[in-house]
Amino acid sequence: MTRVLVPEQIAGAVPWLGARVQRLRGESMGTTWQVLWADGDAARHDEVRAAIEAELDLVVAQMSTWLPTSDLERFNAAPAGTRRALPEALAEVLAAALWLADASSGAFNPAAGALVNLWGFGPAPRYTDPGFAPPDAAAVQAALAGTDWRALRFDAATREATQPGGLRLDFSAIAKGHAVDRVARRLGELGIAHTLVEVGGELLGQGLRPDGMPWWVDLETPPVGSGHARPRATRVALHGLSVATSGDYRRAYLHGGWRLPHSLDPRTGQPVAHGLASVSVLHAECLWADAWSTALTVAGREAGVALAEAHGIAALFVQREPDGCLTETLTSAMERLAG
Ligand code: AMP
Ligand code: MG
Repeated sequence: MTRVLVPEQIAGAVPWLGARVQRLRGESMGTTWQVLWADGDAARHDEVRAAIEAELDLVVAQMSTWLPTSDLERFNAAPAGTRRALPEALAEVLAAALWLADASSGAFNPAAGALVNLWGFGPAPRYTDPGFAPPDAAAVQAALAGTDWRALRFDAATREATQPGGLRLDFSAIAKGHAVDRVARRLGELGIAHTLVEVGGELLGQGLRPDGMPWWVDLETPPVGSGHARPRATRVALHGLSVATSGDYRRAYLHGGWRLPHSLDPRTGQPVAHGLASVSVLHAECLWADAWSTALTVAGREAGVALAEAHGIAALFVQREPDGCLTETLTSAMERLAG
């Protein structure tokens, strides 16, 4: 039977009677986006699209590792000792990322950019390039040397960050979530309160659908080998709630019989290999859902559940067992949403 997750309170205004679901889609941040909202026939599609694209473009201009001119890439390329005042959004995401790096003892690490590139998950070389080979131990050791986020001096009050030299920030595990939050907030400023915003699979729902129901979303389930039971379907009412999922099955490659996913453990320099198929996190803010789902994926089930419990995080862990079946673990906060 489908598991249904619902926030404690469904409250607030209901969309007006003539409202219908409006939809816009597009591409940004190397992925797709989609926004649904409740409005009448004269919905302001052009204005809404322009507002959405402005927010997504801002995140790309500040935080993309694929754009050499982004604020993040300019910081990454700056010589040791360079001090820069970061733009507001970048500083906000950096502060959150550094907090989670400390809280997760480095399982989440925004300074893992050199490792990400080495394993072929950055802009170039890509793991999909012909002839691409994973790095050897010496290369991993060399890259690890530049991944200490504590070496980065950052003053949140002045937004000034100092490049310690060779440190490469990568916000791929948190920026999409932030982009979702920004888009939803901007729509709110336009008077659009009933929205479902999605960027690359990370979602935030606010208000209600025109039919008075919450925005229902089915969680993605990891693939399972034939002969094994599929995990239970999970449906979430995204009412003032966001969800993000990290998994070992979406971006990964096979090498020498090993499956190398794009979630890297910055403490070892290796792709994670503890059999966690996916972690979904529910949180009021998509930035935190996104960042925590990555952190918990890297931590692994045992340490991840303990970490999530310590911080009251609602998470669903799906573990691939040695016999190929999938088992689920819900944290207490997630159990509460399941009623
Ligand atoms: P996500 O899909 O949100 O889990 O983000 C995965 C992406 O985040 C990867 O493609 C890398 O660019 C980056 N990444 C990988 N491992 C980590 C990590 N341990 N901490 C922070 N970012 C990471
Ligand atoms: Mg993430």
